[in-house]
Amino acid sequence: MNPTRSCVACRKKNNKKDLYRIAIDKDGKAIYDVNQKLSLRAIYICKDKTCLNNIKKCIEKNKFKSKMYIETDSFLKLIDELEIEVGE
Ligand SMILES: [Zn+2]
Repeated sequence: MNPTRSCVACRKKNNKKDLYRIAIDKDGKAIYDVNQKLSLRAIYICKDKTCLNNIKKCIEKNKFKSKMYIETDSFLKLIDELEIEVGE
């Protein structure tokens, strides 16, 4: 069975490989974990423009809730990169 994770935006469960993995390092920096192999704590988000957009709005309004500290600048920059990657 494929491992599943919940998207931080829409909360839907999805196959790990169908989600973007965002690893968070010890300083709270967000890292795009392309190969999903970094041994860091991580959050997952759908490869979907709507979810990326919703998360971006949450971060900008300081409404993103997570048990982990995530540094805002690196998080926003990463979401921008993912938005480009996911395309239109
Ligand atoms: Zn989602």
